[in-house]
Amino acid sequence: MTLSCHGIGIAASREVAIGQAFLLQQSFLEVVPRTIPASEVEKETARFNQALVHAKEELQRVHQHIPSDTAQDISSFIETHLLMMEDSAISKAPIVLIRQQYFAAEWALQVRRDELVRVFDEMDDPYLRTRKDDVDHVVGQIQRALQGAGHPDKQSLRGRIVVARDLTPSDIIMLKHQGIAAFVTEYGGPLSHTAILARSLGIPAILGIRHATQLLQQDEILVVDGSQGIVLADPTDPILQHFHQRISQREAREAELRRGIDLPAVTLDGTQISLLANIELPDDIITTLENRADGVGLFRTEFLYMNRTAPPEEEEQLTAYLDAVRGLQGRLLTIRTLDLGADKNLEGNGVSYLPAANPALGLRAIRLCLKEPGLFLPQLRAILRASAEGPVRLMIPMLSSLAEVNEVLKIIEQTKQALQKEGLAFDPDIPVGGMIEIPAAAISAQAFARKLDFLSIGTNDLIQYTLAVDRMDEEVNFLFDPLHPAVLHLIALTISAAKQNNIPVSMCGEMAGDPLFTRLLLGMGLTELSMQPGALLESREVVRNSHLPELSKRAASFIERLDHEAPLALFEELFS
Ligand code: PEP
Ligand code: MG
Repeated sequence: MTLSCHGIGIAASREVAIGQAFLLQQSFLEVVPRTIPASEVEKETARFNQALVHAKEELQRVHQHIPSDTAQDISSFIETHLLMMEDSAISKAPIVLIRQQYFAAEWALQVRRDELVRVFDEMDDPYLRTRKDDVDHVVGQIQRALQGAGHPDKQSLRGRIVVARDLTPSDIIMLKHQGIAAFVTEYGGPLSHTAILARSLGIPAILGIRHATQLLQQDEILVVDGSQGIVLADPTDPILQHFHQRISQREAREAELRRGIDLPAVTLDGTQISLLANIELPDDIITTLENRADGVGLFRTEFLYMNRTAPPEEEEQLTAYLDAVRGLQGRLLTIRTLDLGADKNLEGNGVSYLPAANPALGLRAIRLCLKEPGLFLPQLRAILRASAEGPVRLMIPMLSSLAEVNEVLKIIEQTKQALQKEGLAFDPDIPVGGMIEIPAAAISAQAFARKLDFLSIGTNDLIQYTLAVDRMDEEVNFLFDPLHPAVLHLIALTISAAKQNNIPVSMCGEMAGDPLFTRLLLGMGLTELSMQPGALLESREVVRNSHLPELSKRAASFIERLDHEAPLALFEELFS
């Protein structure tokens, strides 16, 4: 075997991909001080100007290639960066350093970047303070052009496996449109939004491969094996053959699942299970319908707010929600109110705060919305107005106390009254539900269930907060365990509280879409599972082969024995 590199990381999907590596340079962080001889000043100045032009052209090209159905915020994000490239602080100031102090272009640009960032840091306005990230994006783009990497164009990325230190959700959206085969990053966990988005877009991905950008070579052939979280570099022919075979097997399996696409999600004993989709981007409605979801159990609305300088207004949101309501043609749509903060960056939207020491425990989701009515009310109004046209449920993320539940319900009531006064239509009986993502919420589920119309278990956060394991942190990822007894007890508590109060309960965390856990969750009493659209077919098949009375017995035994036996062995004994 002639593997030059073999990295183990965290799989964001179970898919396999083979392709040539494309190393995304993020090397402006590594710029070192360098001067040039006086005789090279003109040449260096021309090199800087050329890089600037090149960076602008690349950005314009990306802008032109953004499909019309992509969120408008991505477009305005790029427009802002184009304007910044025109600003003399970036386009002219480095040239002064080249001419007067003989700095190399990269170094001159880096020094100007540091000065700008210092100015932003000293600003009183918290929003302006965060604009330094834009400076970094723009400077990074010019540095890449200076170092000859440029911004990859559409052609160069098609079928390639992108290797980068880190990628944001909006990077993923752009890379998807550029036709990448897979991506590998040095940072991030399987529950990060980058990973969730990769799964939902069907892009094979491995996160958390330390030093990947140094170990992997530009253009070499890589195999990304999502089922095991490994990347193989420069594989031998027999290995390549093996993985080509795996890809064919996967395609055959998908075709087989597709043949059962129109069969109802009914268990062997005749119980109807509601299989719902998690969506975030406009295109997701198409895959939701293609995979025959019964509706949407989680519409993550954060993507409407990302990478822009002001939050979307009520009418823009209404259009997005109505598109989803209409697209679903009478199927259920569960719209979750804004969950910005923590890993879903607060940047932009006029609500930036200083970075918190523990963002996941900070001003996130409903906490932010209650603090910023200017952000929350337009969204509530838009969701309520969308409910006039189809079955919409309103879902609140990150609730931690009954006081919060009461406060939210009061605001929703006031918003309804305001709409009524204005003569704007909405569903007066719109169900309002809460996500159970914090241990306190699961323990208080009885009290929540008495006030709310439905509950939805968000295991991504529930596991993170129960086990004190940052879902983004690859160092502690091995501790992120859906089968931890404490997690399962909290899930069981929530299901039982909902049942006792006769309200629906669903699960919309990633655990709900992992076919490994479907039988356990059915046995625990869940009959509503919401997952990324690509997982629906496999879940349907598991449901159709399940016998609920049998699974209930096993789940009861599992929960009973959980505190005394090794959970994984017990799980394998009862559910595999
Ligand atoms: C969850 O926490 O499980 C969830 C579905 O919400 P998100 O992943 O958007 O935080
Ligand atoms: Mg969550």
